[in-house]
Amino acid sequence: MRIIVQKFGGTSVSTPSLRKQAAEHILEAKRQGYSPVVVVSAMGRAGDPYATDTLIQLLRTVDGDPDPRDQDLLLSCGEIISSVIMSGLLKNMGHPAVALTGAQAGIITDDKFGDTRIVEVKPDLVLQHLREGKIVVVAGFQGITQNGDVTTLGRGGSDTTAAALGAALGAEVVEIYTDVDGVMTADPRIVPEARPLKVMTYREVAEMAHLGAKVVHPRAVEIAMEKGVPLRIKCTFSDAPGTLITDSMEGVEGTTIRSDRVVTGVAHIANVAQIKIMTGEDVNRSGLVRTVFRALADAGISVDIINVFPRMIAFTVSGEVFEKALDILKRRALDSSGLDPSSVDIEGVEGCAKVSVVGAGMRGVPGVMATVVEALYASEVPILQTSDSHTSISCLVRKDDMQKAMRSLHARFGLGL
Ligand code: ADP
Ligand code: MG
Repeated sequence: MRIIVQKFGGTSVSTPSLRKQAAEHILEAKRQGYSPVVVVSAMGRAGDPYATDTLIQLLRTVDGDPDPRDQDLLLSCGEIISSVIMSGLLKNMGHPAVALTGAQAGIITDDKFGDTRIVEVKPDLVLQHLREGKIVVVAGFQGITQNGDVTTLGRGGSDTTAAALGAALGAEVVEIYTDVDGVMTADPRIVPEARPLKVMTYREVAEMAHLGAKVVHPRAVEIAMEKGVPLRIKCTFSDAPGTLITDSMEGVEGTTIRSDRVVTGVAHIANVAQIKIMTGEDVNRSGLVRTVFRALADAGISVDIINVFPRMIAFTVSGEVFEKALDILKRRALDSSGLDPSSVDIEGVEGCAKVSVVGAGMRGVPGVMATVVEALYASEVPILQTSDSHTSISCLVRKDDMQKAMRSLHARFGLGL
């Protein structure tokens, strides 16, 4: 059996005519001799009747602070509805099909409701249906704990369902269908000059995804990489070839990764806040450096772009937890440090964005930072903070400057050419 996994995102299954286009991709795979396993997201976006955000809002109308377990149970319904509608459509078009919940498809997860992780996939039932010649349509974004509680995988979770099923089933390829022509050099909603990339390595895509490119979930890329399953990101409504994500470039016609490609793409995270803590006394000696990061960690707040200097600690947090982070710093971190609060100055800057250039080819290449700085300087975008890895350089800028920054970096590294 040649198995293919095909995942369709929320937009791709939001209307009857789009679902028809999605079905055509599935039937085309079947014509080519594949046994398709389809993974679907909930239909549509906030406001649409069965979309994830709509269901959250519905629950909030009766319960301002819902139990995460109950919320997961409710949210899982969006994908279940979608899977039944999709399998119904395929049957109506004359093809045997069956809908499965994540639990029925054997997606076993831990019990961190709302952001759970897949710990095991038991695909027996999926295989049984495939052997009977059926197209199996699995509700994405969800699983079940060992105890039988329904869980969800967090935003972008259907991508992870698809990759995990692909790995467990030994699929030839996992196709992620979405509303853009593949992984592009930047988010086309922000950088109109962005163009699709033909081929990328798992690491490049995972890095771009971690740095904000939400076209595919980083966890999905990591699972596919572990098992060496090729991923292809494609557009549901076009015939564009999409982006192939793999490590072996052999046999990929005309698409060898250009060795001169230092930067592959630009990514962004729009809602970030910066926090700076300035003190008269060395933060190492006073222990403030320890209490600050411990207090935030205990509150479940993750920090990014971290710089520690003897008299200053600077880092960023997601804009959503900014107020909470400030509160914790003022109450807990300062208290347990034993410092005189008046000797410590905490400054928060809301409305920032993290803009990153990403490329496996920048490893060891001098001058990338210089080019980044020149591009931002030329477009008069002040840099508030920076960080880097072997394959990326990130700059914190004001949200109002984000688009200008991205377009100038995109142009400066020749990505629109
Ligand atoms: P789906 O519902 O199909 O999972 P998503 O909204 O999660 O779709 O992801 C697709 C969106 O990702 C695109 O519409 C685009 O705005 C955004 N995006 C961000 N960065 C990129 C990128 N580098 N390439 C392509 N799309 C990107
Ligand atoms: Mg997505």
